[in-house]
Amino acid sequence: MQGRINQLLSFSTFDGPGTRAVVFMQGCPVGCLFCHNPETWDPAGGTLITLDDLMRRLERFRSFLSRPALTITGGEPLLQFDFVMALCAAARHEGWHVALDTSACATPEKVLAAAAAVDLMMCSLKPEADATRLCKACGKPMQRSIAALRDQPTPVRLRYVLIPGFTDDDAVLRSLGAFARTFPNLESVELEPFNSLAREKWEALGMHSPLFDSPLPELHEQAIQRARELVGVDLCMH
Ligand code: SF4
Repeated sequence: MQGRINQLLSFSTFDGPGTRAVVFMQGCPVGCLFCHNPETWDPAGGTLITLDDLMRRLERFRSFLSRPALTITGGEPLLQFDFVMALCAAARHEGWHVALDTSACATPEKVLAAAAAVDLMMCSLKPEADATRLCKACGKPMQRSIAALRDQPTPVRLRYVLIPGFTDDDAVLRSLGAFARTFPNLESVELEPFNSLAREKWEALGMHSPLFDSPLPELHEQAIQRARELVGVDLCMH
């Protein structure tokens, strides 16, 4: 069995709890203007790798980590559903803690099957396309697929990118908090302040995002704290 990956990291402290190895899967149809990994979008890009090869490479990372922990991200990992399910099964069989970082751009059935195959679901909530035009894909169906995760036992982390003037509206943040509170299995809400570090990647790929055209006002600690209060400080990680 083969899948397309963009990158492997032996060690990360930003992609889930503790220190973790990370697999970036290739391909994403969501098209977020704030994406930090636009090089993962092309489903025909990246590198083909067999499951056995990928597992062998992961095993080399084991000694760098305090415990064997893996995050599968992208791109949108559920685009290569069969391969990712096989990877989850193989990794857990070898004792890895597996987290899946997904936009849930897939049917609720696939998202639920993925949740049953991992130890932690990290779901990025997208703004509604009609309201903000920040993503090519509409956020509503993805939100419905994420909502399906309430009825199963795998812990869920919700992630949300804070973009000044775009996604930090008071009512939107309050409704994010209300949505998060409906999950009995919620671990936390992560608010991720937007930054323009990906600008060079976009330019190198000949791609354009208006978010990188002119500097957006930086989100100061005070604004992040305000967002945490609107969502519900007790829910937030940062
Ligand atoms: S879902 Fe993730 S990988 Fe895909 S475009 Fe959005 S931020 Fe980028």
